[in-house]
Amino acid sequence: MIALLLLAMTADPSQMDRVFARETLQVAPRVHLIHKPAVTDPPFEGNVTVIEQRDGLVLVDAGGAPPSGRAVVAQVRKLSRKPVKWIVYTHYHGDHNLGAGEVLKAWPQAVVVSTAKTRENMTGAPMAYVAGYAKSYGDMADLAATQAADAKLPEALRAGWRRTAAAGPGMIAGYSGMAAVPASRTFTNRFYIADADAPVEVMFLGRGNTDGDAVVWLPKQKVLASGDLVVAPIPYAAHTYPGEWIATLKKLQAIDFQVLIPGHGAPQGDRAYVGKLIAALETVRGQVAPLKDLPLAEVRKRVNLTSVKAGFTGDDPWLGFLIDAVFTGDLISNAWREARGEHVVQGKS
Ligand SMILES: [Zn+2]
Repeated sequence: MIALLLLAMTADPSQMDRVFARETLQVAPRVHLIHKPAVTDPPFEGNVTVIEQRDGLVLVDAGGAPPSGRAVVAQVRKLSRKPVKWIVYTHYHGDHNLGAGEVLKAWPQAVVVSTAKTRENMTGAPMAYVAGYAKSYGDMADLAATQAADAKLPEALRAGWRRTAAAGPGMIAGYSGMAAVPASRTFTNRFYIADADAPVEVMFLGRGNTDGDAVVWLPKQKVLASGDLVVAPIPYAAHTYPGEWIATLKKLQAIDFQVLIPGHGAPQGDRAYVGKLIAALETVRGQVAPLKDLPLAEVRKRVNLTSVKAGFTGDDPWLGFLIDAVFTGDLISNAWREARGEHVVQGKS
């Protein structure tokens, strides 16, 4: 850890910029995705969607750290000379909004909007984890160095850990001294940003990934940005509400989109992945519910999610590690709490 902190202090700024670099691809007329293509390697950075309206731009999310916010600004300037006038947060998790301070330095007049719940989370205890962000990524990089050197592990898994270790100093430097920028405008169910060419409907469809998820619908382009209700290729389940998540995904699936931009991962041209995610949630709930009176550790031993996991990971051992780390482990505990009538609390595992 000390060695990594020293590295962070002496981190080459260009190394940090490389770690948080972004690329842009066009999704539809007037709609671009700014993303980090190596989506399953840390740092895990949320997608940013850029919508070009007549008198300015709407951003959906803003990058997950100051350097990724700067990368987003650089990509936006390549796309258009129009100003950013709105930043819409899909939810409170920092990998989607901690770049906003840098975006606001470039376009100070931009208005940040989120659900009232997301603002509440960003101004309260759930967002407090940001203070420990650099340390937790430092710990991850330390673990990565150890795992990468473990000759007993499959080479493909060690390769994932090597990539994580290599990104360590840049992540620690990039995640240091961050501050959240909560929304200045909030809504409960619907927020509309009118435009003749690219009107934007921001909607709360129900709880799922958090208690305040917004999706962004472009009815003219038939593009839907889902936030982390949908994350690919490995879904994310930390503070989710499994039963309500299924209902919310079914509402999302019924929207007439031609392209779905997930919270992380490549744009999707069909509903197959959402269907696979719903099926996985139903399987886990179905297995956990009859075991609800057992201790959680016992439930974990008894469920068999081999085929659910393989549907997302194939035989890739790095994806196999990730799915346990960010999806199935939390999903089992949240489904167990739900079956017992207990509450999932944002920011607490
Ligand atoms: Zn995310």
